[in-house]
Amino acid sequence: MAVKCTSCKKDTEEYISFKCPQCGRELFRCLDCRHISAAYVCPKCGFRGP
Ligand SMILES: [Zn+2]
Ligand SMILES: [Zn+2]
Repeated sequence: MAVKCTSCKKDTEEYISFKCPQCGRELFRCLDCRHISAAYVCPKCGFRGP
């Protein structure tokens, strides 16, 4: 099942999931963004993380 990458907003089937350290919402990041440690913004609480 494809998910939307939290960093680049592309649909991806290869991703890692992790929890927002601030609110605990599940976030997804594609392997490209993981590789380059792209920044993300939690859509729920606005937390910015590397
Ligand atoms: Zn991405
Ligand atoms: Zn959050």
